[in-house]
Amino acid sequence: MPLTPLHFGVLAPVNYLFPGKVSLVSFTLVNAWIDMKFIEAALTGQPLPAHGDIHSLAGVLIVGTLVAMPGVRYAKWVIGAYLAALSHLLLDGLIHADMQPFGWIEGNPLRVMDMQTLSLILLPFMLWFIVQTVSSSYAWVRMRWAALPFRNHPPKP
Ligand SMILES: [Zn+2]
Repeated sequence: MPLTPLHFGVLAPVNYLFPGKVSLVSFTLVNAWIDMKFIEAALTGQPLPAHGDIHSLAGVLIVGTLVAMPGVRYAKWVIGAYLAALSHLLLDGLIHADMQPFGWIEGNPLRVMDMQTLSLILLPFMLWFIVQTVSSSYAWVRMRWAALPFRNHPPKP
């Protein structure tokens, strides 16, 4: 990982360009599953483990497929799962020397920068994503509130 939440920065431009086309739930499930060992270590105060097989092209595609399968009838769900899988591999691959993203190539040919640099690049996108999420949640609550029956037909005294 860079910090797992930074992965969500990927969704900001995607949501802007293709609103409503990517499932946040499947995107979250795949990213959390891939980084499960890191999340567990962070929560329990353990040292961070090495990136294992799950941080490889085969590993993320398996996780993406396992999450995509239950919602295979919904393009939004499948797109979210595979977008998370591939963007996770790319973002982590850019910074982690211990990864071996492609089993047929020794080492990590994706690595070109350090975590601080990538985090600085992703931070504005993550903030953009937070603004999008808060804004759309607020719009949803307003819409639901306006649709409540008593709003249009107040109870009689
Ligand atoms: Zn990761």
